[in-house]
Amino acid sequence: MTHHVPAGLPDRVRHFIDGAFVDSLGGETFDVLDPVTNEPYVQAAAGRQADVERAVAAARRAFTDGPWPKLLPRERSRVLHRIADLVEERDARLAELETFDTGLPISQALGQARRAAENFRFFADLIVAQHDDAFKVPGRQLNYVNRKPKGVAGLITPWNTPFMLESWKLAPALATGNTVVLKPAEFTPLSASLWPEIFREAGVPDGVFNLVNGLGEEAGDALVKHPDVPLISFTGESSTGALIFANAAPFLKGLSMELGGKSPAVVFADADLEAALDATIFGVFSLNGERCTAGSRILVERPIYDEFVERYAERARNIVVGDPHDPATEVGALVHPEHTAKVLSYVELGASEGRLVAGGGRPAHRPEGNWIAPTVFADVPPEARIFQEEIFGPVVAITPFDTDEEALALANGVKYGLAAYLWTTSLTRAHTFAQSVDAGMVWLNSNNVRDLRTPFGGVKASGLGHEGGYRSIDFYTDQQAVHITLDEAHSPRFGRG
Ligand code: NAD
Repeated sequence: MTHHVPAGLPDRVRHFIDGAFVDSLGGETFDVLDPVTNEPYVQAAAGRQADVERAVAAARRAFTDGPWPKLLPRERSRVLHRIADLVEERDARLAELETFDTGLPISQALGQARRAAENFRFFADLIVAQHDDAFKVPGRQLNYVNRKPKGVAGLITPWNTPFMLESWKLAPALATGNTVVLKPAEFTPLSASLWPEIFREAGVPDGVFNLVNGLGEEAGDALVKHPDVPLISFTGESSTGALIFANAAPFLKGLSMELGGKSPAVVFADADLEAALDATIFGVFSLNGERCTAGSRILVERPIYDEFVERYAERARNIVVGDPHDPATEVGALVHPEHTAKVLSYVELGASEGRLVAGGGRPAHRPEGNWIAPTVFADVPPEARIFQEEIFGPVVAITPFDTDEEALALANGVKYGLAAYLWTTSLTRAHTFAQSVDAGMVWLNSNNVRDLRTPFGGVKASGLGHEGGYRSIDFYTDQQAVHITLDEAHSPRFGRG
């Protein structure tokens, strides 16, 4: 088996603090594994509290003494557009590094840079076009909203599509004039090491962007508990989100949480079956199934159930599992042996909870390592753990239903509420169902296509708060109400007799 290792890998993945690459103050490191061989390919600096303090101090200085928060929106916007240009130019390199570090198929890693760049362009445009409210109280007062950046934003991100998800937080945090400390996921720190060069070339002043690598319980925890970091934007597992919520509580921090999901794809008998098959296959097996918005529970109306299951299983069996760098690969290597073990444990469990119709373990041609054959369980009852719990791999549960009411109860019968996908040609049913389903985002007869203006986020255990469009601007800024008296001051005259 040939395996592509990118040329020019760093000898060590370092922190980036106050405009310089640095090691941990105590010299600690951790191993980063190649997901294809499961061998360590590089050591990364393991940030501890002292490193986080150093990064926050630099970000704080850049915020209080530096030019960034005070730049005119147009000036910051120009820098952000330059960042977007540089990110786009590096698409091929980014895809190569991302595929190497995460095991995502190269065909799906290509284009991530365009999406990351688009996040910067979008907020670059938004801060220039943005207006704030002003109110007139006739004859008495004028009030207006003075929007201010909050300070040092703490950004904590997961390992699935790491660079793109980092950009989703970096762009609005920086656009609104904050300075940042980013803590990328420890499984996949490689692509984040592209940011310092991009920001430097684009003209971001030293100290505005800081990067601390390390484990969640150490570097992430220190960021969450740092008193000079007034807000944390977190993407990751719901259980980690709950812990961060508790740890941030004594500091009364602003929190934005994008958490896990177990999203339903509901296929009604009147759906365009071909389109629904394409979308529901892609919806769970793209990005190796390591996708927060994966449609990992497919609910299918009884009259088309048997045909759907048969055709779905056949397609799943044909999915090409292979080397992530091979352009023909559709499902690559899962990110890490620990994660593979977790997904495999669900595959084993599923054999007793549902009817296995495709996959069921490692594929025959890849008997070792982080490969899992696309796995499909049919007839999965709603109380099954593979119906209830996020697996975050190429595994799907299919369940039949008879009525719209039953479909809704099934769709809503889990703790999560991130996305929902509905397939039907009935306009009334589509909108009625969409408005009743517990999901932050709904796609009707559509794959997961993001419009950056719309709210992004989940309900129930899938998240807290929404980002996207003006909502991100709201999260990363304080809105101060300034009141001006017109004419005389209108104060009641106490003590004048
Ligand atoms: P994770 O919760 O294990 O880790 C996410 C990040 O949090 C990592 O950087 C980690 O180091 C850090 N972290 C861990 N413990 C911490 C602590 N105690 N304090 C501070 N930081 C800590 O998640 P993961 O396994 O990296 O990512 C997969 C999860 O992310 C899935 O549940 C997936 O659904 C979710 N996700 C959600 C979205 C969304 O937008 N809703 C997007 C992508 C991924």
